[in-house]
Amino acid sequence: MGFSSAAVGGRVSAQHEALAARQEAELRLVDAMRRCLAAKVRADRDYATALQAAAAAHAAKADDLPADSLVAKAWRAMMEEMEAAAKTLRQNAEVVESQSLEALNNIYAEKRRARKQYMEDYNKIVSQFSQLMEEVSRKKTEYHKYLELYKLMRSRFEEHYVKAGRGGRKLDEVRDKFQKACRRLHATHNEYVLLLAAAAEAERALRHLLLPAAGRRARAAHLALLPAWRHALRAAAPAPAPALQAALDALDDAGREYDEFAADPARSSPQGPATPTLSFDDSLVEDTSGKLLPNQLAVDNLTIESLRARLQELEAGVRDNQELQHHLTAQLPSEPAARELVEAQCVERRLQRQLEMIRGALSELGCEELPSGCDLSLSLSVEAAFRQPPAANGAAATAADVDGAAPTPHEAPSTPTQGGERRTSESTFALVRQQLVQSTQPGGRPLQEEEWFHGVLPRDEVVRLLTHEGDFLVRETVRHDESQVVLSVCWGGHHKHFIVQTTADGSFRFEGPAFPTVQELIQYQQQSQLPVTARSGAVLTRAVYRERWELNNDDVVLVEQIGRGNFGDVHRGKLRKTGMEVAVKTCRMTVPEEHRRKFLQEGRILKQYNHPNIVRLIGICVQKQPIMIVMELVPGGSLLKFLRSHEDGLTQRQLLGMCRDTAAGMSYLESHNCIHRDLAARNCLIGQNNIVKISDFGMSREEEEYIVSDGMKQIPIKWTAPEALNFGKYTSLCDVWSYGILIWEIFSRGGVPYNGMSNSQAREKIDNGYRMPKPDGTPDEMYRLMLSCWEYKPEKRPHFDQILTVVETLYGAAR
Ligand code: ADP
Repeated sequence: MGFSSAAVGGRVSAQHEALAARQEAELRLVDAMRRCLAAKVRADRDYATALQAAAAAHAAKADDLPADSLVAKAWRAMMEEMEAAAKTLRQNAEVVESQSLEALNNIYAEKRRARKQYMEDYNKIVSQFSQLMEEVSRKKTEYHKYLELYKLMRSRFEEHYVKAGRGGRKLDEVRDKFQKACRRLHATHNEYVLLLAAAAEAERALRHLLLPAAGRRARAAHLALLPAWRHALRAAAPAPAPALQAALDALDDAGREYDEFAADPARSSPQGPATPTLSFDDSLVEDTSGKLLPNQLAVDNLTIESLRARLQELEAGVRDNQELQHHLTAQLPSEPAARELVEAQCVERRLQRQLEMIRGALSELGCEELPSGCDLSLSLSVEAAFRQPPAANGAAATAADVDGAAPTPHEAPSTPTQGGERRTSESTFALVRQQLVQSTQPGGRPLQEEEWFHGVLPRDEVVRLLTHEGDFLVRETVRHDESQVVLSVCWGGHHKHFIVQTTADGSFRFEGPAFPTVQELIQYQQQSQLPVTARSGAVLTRAVYRERWELNNDDVVLVEQIGRGNFGDVHRGKLRKTGMEVAVKTCRMTVPEEHRRKFLQEGRILKQYNHPNIVRLIGICVQKQPIMIVMELVPGGSLLKFLRSHEDGLTQRQLLGMCRDTAAGMSYLESHNCIHRDLAARNCLIGQNNIVKISDFGMSREEEEYIVSDGMKQIPIKWTAPEALNFGKYTSLCDVWSYGILIWEIFSRGGVPYNGMSNSQAREKIDNGYRMPKPDGTPDEMYRLMLSCWEYKPEKRPHFDQILTVVETLYGAAR
């Protein structure tokens, strides 16, 4: 028939085929009627002619008898009768020809037209549906493509992550690509889910609306012809026998025979199986770590914006469609308007179905913080595989850096621009924040002072603190310049994050009752043991308090700027409570989230160490912006500056003391599997009695071996061992190489290593065996130590404990 009825549901096509077959059969019957009646007309005419001829030929024979012959008279009368019968036959034939046959010809033509119309209707429905199915298949192919890309990017990311730890430009690039692939995949997933829903709705509409409408039109055409049909048959049988009469009378009900075609096929019989193409292909989501689910829209930070945009688009589409329907209804009963109206209704159903899905998915989110679509938490599993055994308590877990995790919009900083412009003014932001964070219980203390309030501690850090079912804490995030208070709970082996909702009258709630303060809300949740949201089922059991490192920003007073770091200024400050002098590294508010995590990494590494030659961490301030790292104040500042400014006044013993201090600090770090990666005079600090403390752990890694692939950009080439430069392989023995340069810096009193050489020249010369000469006045033993630190093969270099023994002996012997 030139169209694909296989594309539509089985029952739909059965109904269509029954109607099409009936129309065909009716056409054949009308044609048969025409032929039969034409034959009858011919036969009647022939018969009439024959009768008339017979009568004419034989009537004259009666004239041979006397005029009063009764027999002749009877014969003549009989012949007249025959002639009359012939005449009637001829007249009847005339009527049949002019009325019945004519009518049947018309009926035939009309029936053909009706059949054509119906077929057109049906083909249109089928082709619209086929188009949708094609779209679904195309989308599925696209889905496959993006899934492959996603998998590729993910494995590349994992590969680099393992190789590079979590630093380096190249890693940033692969991470970026992975996130992009993830975003693309999630978008395609949602498009596929919506398209499937639209196609399923289209199939339903086809069955319930379009096909019955086409059937109704076919029935109307049939009904319109019934009177003509009846008339044609009656005219052909002027004096019907009782049985025929009854059959003709019954024709009045012939319209009913089309009722079944105008009915909804789903109502008349049970629903058949769904068209296979319309089922979600589950294999597509098998490898997406549960982030994507069959037939479910993914609502996360990657998709939320596009879903909202789509929602608006659909709403506009529905509005336009309803207007069109309104307009068409006014034109009824016009046939084309009726036709278009049904089509518009079908389109509306499709749009509404997609709308419902998106609305449902968005509202399911409730007050849960937007999940991260591509939280690179897979990095954690990689991390786990490559790390030292973790500390027993997750809260005090190793100071693994978190910059691998994707920033989510809700945690994004306040979208600073180059010029430091903000979308809302600082003051509005501060006001909103004040209402939220400083919400104070009558007679109680501000939220900030609650032990379980962790300020702007990044989400990844928070997750490390919540280790048992029901563990919870409260924190603050900033999204689009809006401060939000978030409750984080460990539940069902995952971490759930709920945004505290603010009601119109300024109260706070989740799904249940509202309270005037966040504290009361949390108290209610904990005491009632009711789930925070029905969907999550999360119940609060144990509040996780701030670690002793988590200071209040207000506990620290900044006194004066003493330096400038990578992320912000360094200040001399004081602890409000004890008056203790401290150094405070601040992180500019405009620093992106990713870098904020890097900034905190130094704090996280330092908090585990306690050694006189390692700068001590006092705490981190994450209660609010700007976040800060508070350290012991090492009053002399940078060792490099100190060496340069005291060039002449430093004795051999003092210099050896510096070498000993740094060796002691490094030996301690080595025993803790910490690779500093940036040991240099500029990163050491000098304190009272010329004690040297190792500082600047921004590049440190807690691994025995740490591999970097690319991202050599910020690497201090002249301080870095050849195997790290050439193969990206870092061990404590690389720090030993740097230590050699550091003691060279000490003995040259702040000299510039490989002076006059560019980085690459220095690198090349070292590969060719060049080593810096002994600075003036350096003891031979110390120069020998330098040279041993600069052994090309790392395994030939001494370890820090050996170095310490050598330097201590020399120091002890020096006067
Ligand atoms: P970054 O690692 O962000 O570059 P640094 O650690 O190099 O920051 O600090 C920059 C400067 O701030 C140092 O050179 C030093 O002068 C000063 N500084 C840093 N930490 C301290 C401290 N604990 N005590 C005294 N001064 C410090």
